[in-house]
Amino acid sequence: MARRLFRFAQHGAAAAMLVALGACSGPLRPSQGSADSFHNQLLVLDSHLDTPVHFGRPGWNIADRHSFTDDLSQVDLPRMVDGGLDGGFFVIFTPQGPLTSDAYTKAHIFALKRASEIRQVVQRHPGALALVTTPAEARQAAADGRRVVFQSIENSYPLGTSTAALEDFYDRGVRMASPVHSRNNQFADSTTDTPQWHGLSPLGREWVAEMNRLGMVIDASHASDAAFDQMLALSRAPIILSHSGPKAVFDHPRNIDDARLTALAAKGGVIQINSVFLAPTNQSAAWQALLDEQRNLNAMTPAEQKALARRTAAEESRDPYITATFELFMASLLHTLKLVGPDHVGIGADWDGGGGVRGMEDVAALPRITERLKAAGYSDADIAKIWSGNLLRVVQAAQDAAAR
Ligand SMILES: [Zn+2]
Repeated sequence: MARRLFRFAQHGAAAAMLVALGACSGPLRPSQGSADSFHNQLLVLDSHLDTPVHFGRPGWNIADRHSFTDDLSQVDLPRMVDGGLDGGFFVIFTPQGPLTSDAYTKAHIFALKRASEIRQVVQRHPGALALVTTPAEARQAAADGRRVVFQSIENSYPLGTSTAALEDFYDRGVRMASPVHSRNNQFADSTTDTPQWHGLSPLGREWVAEMNRLGMVIDASHASDAAFDQMLALSRAPIILSHSGPKAVFDHPRNIDDARLTALAAKGGVIQINSVFLAPTNQSAAWQALLDEQRNLNAMTPAEQKALARRTAAEESRDPYITATFELFMASLLHTLKLVGPDHVGIGADWDGGGGVRGMEDVAALPRITERLKAAGYSDADIAKIWSGNLLRVVQAAQDAAAR
């Protein structure tokens, strides 16, 4: 989740390291059939699907085909099939509110509702979707022809002033969580706020220990650099950046520097490359108003939703919000691959949370990434790791560390 609730002005040059496009690792190898058919054989997972924001929308059904221009969504079952997307982590995102006990209660109820919406959507489509909690279950679900639904928490704010509720979310199947979103909270500093804790709060340190005890993956996307450093140092298991990018491609607080990426990899972690924060976005008043309206989709009738989508599309053709291109996304992915190697990189494009670039507007476009990785010389085995192997390794490592 980025675009809709993200208010940080994105200054700075879009100094993309397009030179990284030329980065290759290993020799080019002859393609075995088309990249498309190879892509469809892979287990393709995205570590940060904000699609549950649509689950409460009147009239919205994941089984229907939608388009971004008609309805502002980027993931549904028909487009997952088109793009060969087997699933991933479906996010329980809670917007940051005040740090008061009343607000914690409301946020907790909101997060529980979102978790039950995810469960209900899976239950309504038992032949097409499977709720999973382990890598083995994910592989089995995909082998059975079902889409994989892991659950994660973005922003632990709804937990309130203790970590006790983490176990309840674990029991509901959640296997990954991040402490913080775009503003500081009771657990940690956000990378897009002014340092308050200088990393994790004392409660945030307890949160790390509880995450490890339960065997949940610690997600450091949105956390400040100091909080990232502390989570990396404290965690007994490898950690993840579920939807982040390299600062070397675009200097933005939501992106991470090469030294930290190297440290993440050295501890067995993984960065899942985002399609947001690749270039400045349009900060016009018209866009701010549209993005504010988009936060209320769940309160709109289907006709109102459609009207908003049309106005968004009209503004996009008049004065685009996103200038980043697929080339820039690939530059970000290839830079990171060159830096830390194919064992520590995956994809978390922030679909339905602000993700998407020109040339890759929704998940139907994912085979283009595989095609470009092949063209850059990555082996079939490397590409399989990038699309799910690394993510599942980190999920397994967190679960193994808990079992020990
Ligand atoms: Zn996010």
